[in-house]
Amino acid sequence: MNSYYYTDEEVNNILTRDGFKCVVCGNRENEILKLNIGFLENKTNVNLKSNLNKVTLCENHKNINEIHSLKKLFLDLHQISINENNSEFISFTNKILKVYEYESK
Ligand SMILES: [Zn+2]
Repeated sequence: MNSYYYTDEEVNNILTRDGFKCVVCGNRENEILKLNIGFLENKTNVNLKSNLNKVTLCENHKNINEIHSLKKLFLDLHQISINENNSEFISFTNKILKVYEYESK
């Protein structure tokens, strides 16, 4: 378990609450799979006992979650660029969002 963002106590509390399992897939930490603490934006798919959005995630689900958060950030930036009529940024965010479309195929 590696965490640069949380205190040991916070990590322990979150892991204990979630039963030392990824809240998305239920996998436990092993030699291959490490558990992380992450933020879960879409809580509707997951049966969480707590409404805190800091949860235990395996590496697979932490990465998926980070990719979604970044995509949302670029979508917001794209919308702002359109509102400001900033053609340089519209072109930039378009290129980034095309990569997301390509990656999700
Ligand atoms: Zn998982």
